[in-house]
Amino acid sequence: MNGFSYVRAEDVTTAVRRIAEKSGAKAVAGGTNLIDLIKCDVERPQRLVDINHMNHMPCGSITVCDGGGLRLGALATNAEVARDEQVRARYPLLSEAILAGASPQIRNMATVGGNLLQRTRCPYFYDTATPCNKRTPETGCSALDGFNRNHAILGASEHCIATHPSDMCVALAALEAEVCVSGPVADRTIAFGDFHRLPEDLPHLDSNLESDEIITAVELPAKGFAEHYAYLKVRERTSFAFALVSVAVGLEMQGDAIAEARLALGGVAHKPWRNRRAETLLEGRQASRENFQQAAEAMLYGAQGYGQNDFKIPLAKRAIVRALTQAAAGVQRQ
Ligand code: SF4
Repeated sequence: MNGFSYVRAEDVTTAVRRIAEKSGAKAVAGGTNLIDLIKCDVERPQRLVDINHMNHMPCGSITVCDGGGLRLGALATNAEVARDEQVRARYPLLSEAILAGASPQIRNMATVGGNLLQRTRCPYFYDTATPCNKRTPETGCSALDGFNRNHAILGASEHCIATHPSDMCVALAALEAEVCVSGPVADRTIAFGDFHRLPEDLPHLDSNLESDEIITAVELPAKGFAEHYAYLKVRERTSFAFALVSVAVGLEMQGDAIAEARLALGGVAHKPWRNRRAETLLEGRQASRENFQQAAEAMLYGAQGYGQNDFKIPLAKRAIVRALTQAAAGVQRQ
């Protein structure tokens, strides 16, 4: 492990300044992924800026936004968000997605901001003895012809077929949240769908957050799809496993017809996967198995397996149909 300096930041301005002034500086909050990466010699920060002490600022709270939505402070823990009364009542999709992820111990430490920035669990990324374009650009991708059971079937490139590991982010994509960030020049807001990147030819970049910016909050719009939603996670074991495929669904129903549909997939791409065409195929139509199957086909359009993960394509289609069926019925069953 490499040596690094450690500083505490008491507010956002100080945190941004301490990160911007030192190349290779990184913010740390719960540390549930970053500390592992440092121990594995994958991450080598020159400076760790501890932002946990900004917790007295709005970064640690859950508050109602002006437009009626909810603002999740970046330092709110996964456990705090999942059990928050407003989240459970207005955004049960988000609460259930969070509870489907990790263990209670990790959820007590992991934060909203860190959840967005956690890195892939591709085993080659953590093994410094193997080529990996994400860890060391232009060295190759060991997963293409190696162990790729958990890897991407959508949006991948010849340079990287890793998946994003978050459950929370799949729900945030379906809810069309916004990410609030602060940097040395200005604050800005990033639409959730634009926050994470596909690998293309720059797989070492996971998101569009600049290296001198920090996440301060995630804002949920007023509409939470609390009546008709589902988060379905298919994994190797019931607890504490990353998704092979996950599906977040939010529907607005008018009788038996679907007025509005939101659909996002996890475990299948470098970012939570949306496909607006699949959603429009559902809107204005009956909630029927045939229509759900058409939407599933559209959602998986262009999907490609790499051998061991070929099974994800039919699995994802079936999971979408099941999640849509649950959401339309207004009942959430795992
Ligand atoms: Fe590295 Fe991505 Fe290939 Fe995994 S899939 S070995 S993270 S380049």
